[in-house]
Amino acid sequence: MKVIATIGIVLGLLVSLAHAEVATPEQHEKNIEMCTQNLLAIGKAIEVYEKEHSDFPVWLSDLHPKHLIDSNVLICPSDPEGGKPIYTGNTDPEMPVSYSYEINPEYREWKTEQRKVYGDAMPIVRCRHHANEDFAVLNLSFSSRVYRSANIWENKPTEIYENVEEAIVTLAGGIQRHPDNANFAYVYPMLVSLYMKAERAKDAENLINRYKETLKPDSIREHLVLGDMLKRINQDEEQLQLYNKLEEQFPENRTVFRRLAEIHDRLGNAELANEYRIKADPVLALIGKTVPDFSAMDLDGNPISLEQYRGKVVLLDFWAVWCGPCIAEMPNVKAVYNSYKDEGFDIIGISLDTDEDHLRDYLKENDIPWRQVFSGEGWKSPVAQQYGIRAIPAPWLIDKDGTLITHQARGEKLERLVAEALKGKSTN
Ligand SMILES: [Zn+2]
Repeated sequence: MKVIATIGIVLGLLVSLAHAEVATPEQHEKNIEMCTQNLLAIGKAIEVYEKEHSDFPVWLSDLHPKHLIDSNVLICPSDPEGGKPIYTGNTDPEMPVSYSYEINPEYREWKTEQRKVYGDAMPIVRCRHHANEDFAVLNLSFSSRVYRSANIWENKPTEIYENVEEAIVTLAGGIQRHPDNANFAYVYPMLVSLYMKAERAKDAENLINRYKETLKPDSIREHLVLGDMLKRINQDEEQLQLYNKLEEQFPENRTVFRRLAEIHDRLGNAELANEYRIKADPVLALIGKTVPDFSAMDLDGNPISLEQYRGKVVLLDFWAVWCGPCIAEMPNVKAVYNSYKDEGFDIIGISLDTDEDHLRDYLKENDIPWRQVFSGEGWKSPVAQQYGIRAIPAPWLIDKDGTLITHQARGEKLERLVAEALKGKSTN
């Protein structure tokens, strides 16, 4: 018995040492170096495979064993699970692989399309296991170069090209070859930013003028792209004219309201900015006011309304199992619930799911005890419609008197807000 206990302690120590080791900067750099070698080897194997098949592999596992003898190359040393990409959608169906294959069957069509604009600097294999404050992903490009980038590399083209001029030449050429492809509209503002960065303001202006000439008068999307381009050359006045015109033409468009709020903020028109902020997000007008009651049935078939919760601090939580950020927040919500449920805090979940079994399975597996409202109508759920919900997560925190404290009670501030509200000092 004594021996076994000792072994247990030694193993425990080894495990904690292994964990501590991963955290040191030296080990971190060493892992990146090893991962880089893996990526380069994968790149070589893909190249040979492509020559032989005149096509890319469907999954990286197709490279093994013929083109990639050692399957360990598919495992990143920083992957704690030894063969799992961070996003489950990228999971190789055949064998453990740590890497995201950018042209797996689900993404291949779009990525092939993107490559026509971004060229071979675009990522084909990515590792997300080394994310830190400097970068999110280690990438292998189609041309077998390894580089670091943000998660959404499209937003930071300078990270994928050797220099700004190369980025400009590639993107300008790309949109010139595909002038009518609406999928690439977002490249235009990016190109404007690149011109500004390269101190080529005249080229930025020319691009904007050419874009204006092809603008379809009734396309809100194209006008919003133009607005984005003007923002990047700091043309507030011209943006204001544009959005004022758009507001007349598309009087219900919330993006137009949001951008008008931003511009008026920058121009120092605080009151107007606020008006537009409320138009863009009408629930803002409810903050500090009594939330109108709703009545519905909960998942157990019992009537439920806000009125039943008067005297309690309530989180009216609009969410869904399919909503990634909602699920990511759940451990925090649960922890706050457990800490304060006996002091008068409660939660009502308003589920925007459409699949009842999915919802019930999730609630059971994750041991979620608070009541849920579910209609099965997704965004058209009556309670969500009543409160004008257009995006989730939307966690509304309501005080003991039924007043809305905030419509974004999440993350670190959730606990503080709940604690304050329970003490009766709802400061927002
Ligand atoms: Zn890696």
